Amino acid sequence: MTAEVLILHTGGTIGMVPGPHGLAPAPGLRQRIEQQLGSSLQQLPGFDLLEIDPLIDSANITPAHWQQLAALLAEHWERYRGFIILHGTDTMAYSAAALAFMLGASERNVLFTGSQVPLGLPRSDAVAHLQAALQLAAGPRLRNVSLVFNNRLLNGSRLRKVSSQQFHAFDTPNAAPLAELNIRPQLYTERLLGEAIASRHPREAAALDFQPGAVAMLCLHPSMPPALYDAILADSNCKAVVLQSFGAGNVPSRDPAFDAFIKRAGARGKVVVNVTQCLQGGISPGTYAASAGLQDQGVLSGGDMTPEAAFCKLHWLLAGGRDTAAVIRDWSLNLSDERTI
Ligand code: ASP
Repeated sequence: MTAEVLILHTGGTIGMVPGPHGLAPAPGLRQRIEQQLGSSLQQLPGFDLLEIDPLIDSANITPAHWQQLAALLAEHWERYRGFIILHGTDTMAYSAAALAFMLGASERNVLFTGSQVPLGLPRSDAVAHLQAALQLAAGPRLRNVSLVFNNRLLNGSRLRKVSSQQFHAFDTPNAAPLAELNIRPQLYTERLLGEAIASRHPREAAALDFQPGAVAMLCLHPSMPPALYDAILADSNCKAVVLQSFGAGNVPSRDPAFDAFIKRAGARGKVVVNVTQCLQGGISPGTYAASAGLQDQGVLSGGDMTPEAAFCKLHWLLAGGRDTAAVIRDWSLNLSDERTI
C-alpha cells in the first residue's frame, strides 16, 4: 500500500518501554504499532515512520527540536497527505503551539498525539489515538495543527495538559474542541482556522533562528525573591518574558522590586507579555487597580492565551529575527486562533 501518512516519532510514553529506571523511549516503534493495531491497519491509511535520534522524554524538548520537526516536515511535505507527530504529553502543549505558529493554516494535516499508557501495555490509550490520528491525517484538510487525544481533536495553539493521571489529559480551556470522535466523528468545520489565517510552508520555519533561552516564564507568587528578577534582567540572551499573573492579570503593585523589574525590563528592550496563571479565562487589563500601570509600562496583553502559547509565539517572533519594536508590533497578529478576539 502506498503510504499516505508520515509518522514522526519523537519519544514520549506512547513509544516507551519499561526499563530499570522507569519508562524510557525505545526505537523500533513500527513493529510494535503493527503488532498492536493488527488487522485494523488494513482499514487505515498506510504510513511510513521516522524516528528522531535520540528519542526523548519530552521533558527534554528544546526549540531546536521544533526546528528539527519543521525540517523533517519540509523534506517530506509534498510526498504525504498528512503527518502525525508522536510526542510525550509533558510538553506537547508547547510543541503543538510552536508548530501551529510555524505552519498557520497548514496546507497538510499535522496532528500531534501521544498516550498516558505505553502502546502494548494493558489498558493503553495508544491504539485508539493512533487509529484516530491515521484516519484524520489522511482525511479532509483540517487547517489547524491539532492534537488527537481521548476521543477529541483540539486546537494545538490552545492546549494545556490538565492531568498527569487521567486519560483526559488535555484540554483547551478557552476554546471548544475541533472534533468529537464518538461512534460517528463530528468535525466542527466552523471552528477550524478561517481563510484570513495565512498558511506557511515548513521550509520557512526550518530556516528560522530559534535561540535557546530567548524567552523566560515568570510565575508570580506571594513574596517573590528579587534574585529571580535580577537573573532575568542580567541575561542578555533572554529577550522576552511571559509573566504569569494572578487572576484577571494582577501583579504585586505595592512591591517596589516588581515595579523596578518591569521598568528595567522595558529599558533593556525585553518584551513582557501578561497572561493569567488561572487554568481558564484570560486577563482583563484595567479591571483592578493592581494591574493599572502595566499597559503604560509597555507590558503586552496575552488576552486568554495559554502560557505555553504565549511562550512559543514569542520564540517564533524572535526566531524570525525581529527586534523589540517588531516583536511588539507583531504580537497582535492572529497566527493560529491562539486567542479569543
Ligand atoms: N514523560 C513523558 C513525556 O512527556 C510523559 C508522556 O509522554 O505521557 O515524554
